[in-house]
Amino acid sequence: MTGNDLPALSIADLQSLLRRREVSPREVIDILRERIETVDGDIGAYLSLDIEAAVKEAEHSNVDLPLGGIPIAIKDIINVMGQPCTCGSKILNGYRASYDAAVIQKLRAAGAIPFGKTNLDEFAMGSSTENSAVKSTRNPWDLSRVPGGSSGGSAAAVAGDEAFGALGSDTGGSIRQPAAMCGVVGFKPTYGRVSRFGLVAFASSLDQIGPVTKTVRDAALIMNAIAGHDPQDSTSLNESVPDYLASLGKDLRGVRLGVPKEYVIEGIDSQVRTAIDAAVKQLNSLGAEIIEVSLPSTEYAVAVYYIIATAEASANLARFDGVRYGYRAENPKDVLDLYGRTREEGFGAEVKRRIILGTYVLSSGYYDAYYLRAQKVRELIRRDFASVFGKVDALISPTSPVAAFKLGERADPLQMYLADIFTIAANLAGICGISVPCGFAELNGHRLPIGLQLLGKPLDEARILQIAHAYEQSTDWHKARPPIASTRPKV
Ligand code: GLN
Repeated sequence: MTGNDLPALSIADLQSLLRRREVSPREVIDILRERIETVDGDIGAYLSLDIEAAVKEAEHSNVDLPLGGIPIAIKDIINVMGQPCTCGSKILNGYRASYDAAVIQKLRAAGAIPFGKTNLDEFAMGSSTENSAVKSTRNPWDLSRVPGGSSGGSAAAVAGDEAFGALGSDTGGSIRQPAAMCGVVGFKPTYGRVSRFGLVAFASSLDQIGPVTKTVRDAALIMNAIAGHDPQDSTSLNESVPDYLASLGKDLRGVRLGVPKEYVIEGIDSQVRTAIDAAVKQLNSLGAEIIEVSLPSTEYAVAVYYIIATAEASANLARFDGVRYGYRAENPKDVLDLYGRTREEGFGAEVKRRIILGTYVLSSGYYDAYYLRAQKVRELIRRDFASVFGKVDALISPTSPVAAFKLGERADPLQMYLADIFTIAANLAGICGISVPCGFAELNGHRLPIGLQLLGKPLDEARILQIAHAYEQSTDWHKARPPIASTRPKV
């Protein structure tokens, strides 16, 4: 094992090296820092690093804890005490978190080291990370393409071997979609399974934090640390949490998988379709039964999402007024001028578009026609899932209809919104889902990853991880490395 190989390790493999005392947590931080210095100029995954604090923590870390001495990258919308929390926005320029989010408290208790904050679309609004007010992030598989979004920094960091694992947040697909585009694993837990305390709110009834990792086992390891009830979040579920590692390795005999017929749509890239068809066959050959199912309200999901998510965002973002946090307009005439200009200068175009749309759908004349109606259709979408989950254990679909697109290619916001067509319904229904690598599209001589999405019943994370793990272990997709990555050694 050389320093060059180490950043390519999965969390589980790094853990065994640490526990065998073949490398120290301090050395791991040094090697990771070097790796970031070498490649992050090209990838641009990180917005800030706190290596000094990480070194201090590494010196005292107990490698026998569940994530002892493992550095984890954090999407820059989750508060880590003392570190900046920009949300990819100018309006939080200069802000530093005064407390740790619940997931950070839990990661620290498990021995992990949150050492750096990753880039994202401003306030997690987007599907390509191009809405970041700070910079663009590039896909490690092809630097002219986007990493997906909004957790594009986390996915690119993991794919580019600049992080062993990361946290992202998923409101409509923002963990799963960038994971698919970067060829890594992205897991969205059931709504309420992981505390949102300390996650800057975008759409409170949809947001969930989850892991972005190189393997399904690593996702289970992080879930073991972060899942569970938290009295600081009133929507957190008071349910016991199983050991997510325990279900890995079970075979798929008796598992019933549904293929929703509404998900076979025009507009899916033919290479994506071929890869998903092959994955379905593979799952079948592992013993799973494949059943066609129907989710009739699917066609409304994107519209419903953009009413509910923007309505909630317009309320959540009201707090950024130049008084409490971050950026403040200069020389205001009066308090209204201060609010108005701070928000005019501090928010980017997509955020403003959503605040305007959200305010509109909540306004008295339109509330019933848009917001209330959207809530009703949301309930139909939830019932669609509840009814198919009476027949099947999990659903299969592509994560994204296309592989990573070029930076600047999707300038039309509506085109961008369609990137989440397969991921959004899960957030509306509050169910869990994962994206795992399932193949490649060949485009202009570049191999671009394709993701397979598995959706599961509320609180059935263990089952989804089990199925994803069985699939992953029966294929070689997760072993493929982007050209910019270091090689992945055998431990
Ligand atoms: N792309 C979707 C949006 O722009 C989802 C984002 C997310 O999951 N945070 O809202």
